[in-house]
Amino acid sequence: MNNERVAAKKKYGQNFLKDENVLRKIVEAMPKSDNKIVEIGPGLGDLTKFLVKVKSVEAFEVDTDLCKRLNITFKDEIATKRLHINCGDVLEAWQSTLVDEPYDLVANLPYYIATNIILKALADPMCKSLLVMVQLEVAQKFAAESGDKVFSGLSVITQSVGTASIVIEVPPTAFDPMPKIDSAVMLIQKHSDRADKAFEDMLRVAFAQPRKTLLKNLSSHYDKQKLSEIFEEMDLSLTIRPHQLHTADYHQLYKKI
Ligand code: SAM
Repeated sequence: MNNERVAAKKKYGQNFLKDENVLRKIVEAMPKSDNKIVEIGPGLGDLTKFLVKVKSVEAFEVDTDLCKRLNITFKDEIATKRLHINCGDVLEAWQSTLVDEPYDLVANLPYYIATNIILKALADPMCKSLLVMVQLEVAQKFAAESGDKVFSGLSVITQSVGTASIVIEVPPTAFDPMPKIDSAVMLIQKHSDRADKAFEDMLRVAFAQPRKTLLKNLSSHYDKQKLSEIFEEMDLSLTIRPHQLHTADYHQLYKKI
C-alpha cells in the first residue's frame, strides 16, 4: 500500500477505516455467493485490498486524486482485471442498475449520501445484498422491527425486499479522521426488489410525523372517512402510531387505499 498521508476531503465524506479488526469482520460477514463485488468509495483502498483477495471488484470513486492513487496501489489487480475502478460520481453512473450482472454491495459508504445509495441498491434488480458501513442511527432505522421507536418508512421498505441486521457497531476511533458519530456495519439480504413508488409515497405520508397517530398523518393526503372505514375493516385502533404497524399491514393498507 502507498502509505503517504492524504488530507481527507470533508465534502466527499472521507473517513478512512483504519481498524484492521473491523475490516476483517466486514469480510467475514460477506454473504457466500458467486456474485461480483461492487464497492462504492474505495478511498485509500483499505477495504479494497481485502475484497480483491476474495473476488473481482467493480469500484466507484468520485475523488480523482484518490482514483490516481488507487490506480498505482492496485496496478497488478487492475492489469489482471481483478479490480476495475470507475472514476466519477456513483449516483450519476447509476441508471436502473449500477452494473449489468448480479452483485453484492460491500462498502464503507460516504454518509452524506448513504441513505440514497441504500435505497438505490434496494431498487436495483442486479444488487443481491448490501453489507455497508453507515451512521449507527441510519442502520438502526433500516434494521428496526415493528414496535421499535425508530421503526420507519425505511424499515418497511427494507422488510418488503429482504432482511436487515446490524453486524457490528463501530466507534469513531476506528476511522481517520474520526467522525463525530458512531457507525455500524449493516447487512441486508434481498429476496426481491423495491415495490412501487406509490407505496413509498404512502409510507412517507404515514411516517411524516412519527409521534402523531397514523390516522392523522394519512388524513393529510387521503380521505378521512374512507380511512376510518379501512381502519375498522383491518381492526386497527384509530389511535395507533405509525411505528406500531407491521410491514404486512402497510401492504394491506396500501391495497385498500
Ligand atoms: N472505503 C474507504 C475506507 O473504508 O476507508 C473510504 C470510505 S469513505 C467513508 C467514503 C468514500 O466514498 C470516499 O473515498 C469518498 O471519496 C467516496 N465518495 C464520496 N462520494 C462519492 C460519490 N458520489 N461517488 C463515489 N464515491 C464517493
